[in-house]
Amino acid sequence: MKQLSLTFIFSLLVLISLAQVNKDGSQVNVSDIKVTLLGTGTPQPLMERFGPSILVQAGSETLLFDAGRGCLQRLRQVKLEYDKINALFLTHLHSDHIVGLPDLWLTGWLITKRAIPLKVFGPDGTKEMAEYLEKAFAYDIKIRVQDDKAPQEGGKLSVTEIEQGVIYEANGVKVIAFEVDHGVVKPAFGYRIEYNGHSVVLSGDTKYSENLIKFAKGTDLLIHEVMIAPDTLSKSDPRYNITQHHTTPKQAAQIFNEVKPKLAVYSHIVKLYGRTEDEIMNRTKADYSGPLIMGEDLMSFAIGDTITVSRPPNK
Ligand SMILES: [Zn+2]
Ligand SMILES: [Zn+2]
Repeated sequence: MKQLSLTFIFSLLVLISLAQVNKDGSQVNVSDIKVTLLGTGTPQPLMERFGPSILVQAGSETLLFDAGRGCLQRLRQVKLEYDKINALFLTHLHSDHIVGLPDLWLTGWLITKRAIPLKVFGPDGTKEMAEYLEKAFAYDIKIRVQDDKAPQEGGKLSVTEIEQGVIYEANGVKVIAFEVDHGVVKPAFGYRIEYNGHSVVLSGDTKYSENLIKFAKGTDLLIHEVMIAPDTLSKSDPRYNITQHHTTPKQAAQIFNEVKPKLAVYSHIVKLYGRTEDEIMNRTKADYSGPLIMGEDLMSFAIGDTITVSRPPNK
């Protein structure tokens, strides 16, 4: 207990020191990369945690990672319109990470009259999915072009299927994809985004992954998924397989200890059978004493020489 409270105080002190404050008390906004958690949830249809989606703004690049349920509404909440998105990157093709795509793409196009296709990067199967989506919505796309005068090119998805390595470079921003271990879902990717000497790493969905540790080393901000289940869950339980696809708090602590990010943040929070976020944090902090935050929708991180955390105004 004593160790826990000391850890808490340490984390708080680090967080306070991470924020830069002017003499008049206002916060300095010196950042190279701004990261906003648009959705921190899972397939569960929760109001407080929308589907997985993370916005990364670096220099002049505006990049979206996964398009879970409600990502278009969250983008509107941060006052960013669809036509400002340079590219969408998918970690894998589980539906919770892509069900927001038709809304993002079609409603976004209709409202903004975006005139160029959306670049989509993703694993094998992404091209086929996009082709089927374009077929599924062919009637609407035709009508929007004819009746709403939406630019034809903006109604298209331009897909690149990726492998591990540097997959995107523009205006000084580099996106590196790396393979993670999401059980039977192969391939599944995490991403490292670099700009001006700073970086953020997104785990995607994964269980403990040595490859993630390798690619995440030295990063400023590590956003990692987490899953908690009862210790007594038996192999015959229908949800047992979920536990084989994700990372436990104890494993996450081990990852954070190896990566040593300036700040670790949980997103995509899987809680089985009534387990709680407090348990996740306590179990992690039992083995990891560095700065750690439980992510929330619309929480943002300005990464420069320090990291400034902003919580949504209603929290
Ligand atoms: Zn997921
Ligand atoms: Zn998944």
